[in-house]
Amino acid sequence: MALIVHKYGGTSMGSVERIRNVAKRVAKWSRAGHQLVVVPSAMSGETNRLLGLAKELSPVSTTAELARELDMIASTGEQVSSGLLAIALQAEGLQAVSYAGWQVPISTDTAHTKARISAIDDKRVRADLAAGRVVVITGFQGVDPQGNITTLGRGGSDTSAVAVAAALKAAECLIYTDVDGVYTTDPRVVPEARRLQTITFEEMLEMASLGSKVLQIRSVEFAGKYRVPLRVLSSFTPWDIDLSEEARSGTLITFEEDEKMEQAIVSGIAFNRDEAKISLLGVTDKPGIAYQILGPVADANIDVDVIIQNVSHAGRTDFSFTVHRNDYARTLELIKRVVLPVTGAADLVGDAKICKVSIVGIGMRSHVGVASKMFSVLSQEGINIQMITTSEIKTSVVIDEKYMELAVRALHKAFDLEQPAG
Ligand code: ADP
Ligand code: ASP
Ligand code: MG
Repeated sequence: MALIVHKYGGTSMGSVERIRNVAKRVAKWSRAGHQLVVVPSAMSGETNRLLGLAKELSPVSTTAELARELDMIASTGEQVSSGLLAIALQAEGLQAVSYAGWQVPISTDTAHTKARISAIDDKRVRADLAAGRVVVITGFQGVDPQGNITTLGRGGSDTSAVAVAAALKAAECLIYTDVDGVYTTDPRVVPEARRLQTITFEEMLEMASLGSKVLQIRSVEFAGKYRVPLRVLSSFTPWDIDLSEEARSGTLITFEEDEKMEQAIVSGIAFNRDEAKISLLGVTDKPGIAYQILGPVADANIDVDVIIQNVSHAGRTDFSFTVHRNDYARTLELIKRVVLPVTGAADLVGDAKICKVSIVGIGMRSHVGVASKMFSVLSQEGINIQMITTSEIKTSVVIDEKYMELAVRALHKAFDLEQPAG
């Protein structure tokens, strides 16, 4: 008998019929003698619907007061699906109880709409498990030290599940979703993408941080920090498939490099359409210039991703960086108001129609020429690279958004990531 955490995403919880299927699957695990904690997301589309309602009333950019209310609103989606799942489990003849984040409690900091979990009290949950109940805990939400409801950022139910698994020292955390594992790239963009049986934790961390939304990055960070065994698998297999077959399916995130079966140099390709680029042209090239430009951006709590400063000509240089697209207008305005007057830039240009495409693989550590192969593939497709960043196990390029799918497909093919034919 083991303590297992299941997480079901929005599509898996998307209708009463699907919730019934989730309950049947959970019941199968419970009847096999396991202790079950289940973390559901809101029903698909519900979080967008709720946030859309708020936006109709206040289209302005986020203030601290608004962010608090957004959390009040968005967190209800998970509360509904948790209650429904508990009822469905009871209808299956199990004892089940659901808790909102604040009832557990799952404690977080005060950063509304992107809060971080600081602690999880396991007493209540353990007592229920000991009494033979299945415990359902809302994904995506927690409570701050003042008792305010917080949410963990989009996709945050993954993080709730892994954090709950870490707190309970669960034997495994199973992330049930609408694809049957982690693929070499998003199978919705490249149909030839291949499912990976295993992926190393480091690669998964890079893939998630570079835009693969199959797992929220913070869930992978938690799994790494607390060594939570983590598996991504399908909720769309028949609920009554053999339990041991189900337990081996999907993709396992591994912590040891040599556990990795597939020794490809590049394991996956990630992409991100959520960024925008800002360039200051002809700024005076002197010590402190990067700080003059990015200091005010950091003070405004805006995350900067890629940064490039060119060599200078006649004491002047060009400086470009990317931010999240949601922060684009705010950053441009800030630069115009605060930065331009002191840097004396000749021009300011912005481009929200960019994307970042990245190749990821621990094999890149020990192989040379991987980045140059990437550049050559893109040049053969006539795609201009605007920015480049690299780390030990990834190379990312910023390109025009309209070439994103072309770039991902070409790279996927060139690095031999496709399904073997037949
Ligand atoms: P859930 O609602 O279950 O949390 P998400 O939509 O958040 O599901 O994540 C699953 C989706 O992630 C898939 O439907 C797929 O389109 C997308 N995805 C992006 N990159 C990958 C990848 N490398 N492997 C698998 N799925 C991916
Ligand atoms: N419901 C939240 C969202 O749509 C959290 C999640 O699904 O993980 O972002
Ligand atoms: Mg998700």
